[in-house]
Amino acid sequence: MGENAEAENLNAICREAKAEGKLSGKNLTDLYDLFGQRFTKALDALKENRIKKYIFKPSGRTVWIVVGRERDYLLMPEAEFCTCDDFYFRVLDQKVHLCYHLIAQKVARNLGWFDTIEENDDLYASLMTEWKKATP
Ligand SMILES: [Zn+2]
Repeated sequence: MGENAEAENLNAICREAKAEGKLSGKNLTDLYDLFGQRFTKALDALKENRIKKYIFKPSGRTVWIVVGRERDYLLMPEAEFCTCDDFYFRVLDQKVHLCYHLIAQKVARNLGWFDTIEENDDLYASLMTEWKKATP
């Protein structure tokens, strides 16, 4: 399965879940069939409320973060980009493309399962530096 098919399947399931306001048993099964362990990890992140949407004021810039065990991961969902090693090496190898952070973020965004954190624009540069630091 190519990376696009994977993302398209995830988007289709997210649309369904959004319409229902929840993940159905079938959604869960389908997601597990699609992503296996990656979905298990995504679901843990969702259950543990580790998906954060930062909104910087007054610019309105938005940054998504998944709080990890050892560090935070910066996501750029529009570009399907993540700062984790998993993402980095998979993309280099042209393997499966969506890391569990991106899967979790998509589900979170569609179901509203995330925290919104407002920060002042003054902090944007230093936070971004911090979040990008661990990128290989
Ligand atoms: Zn990632």
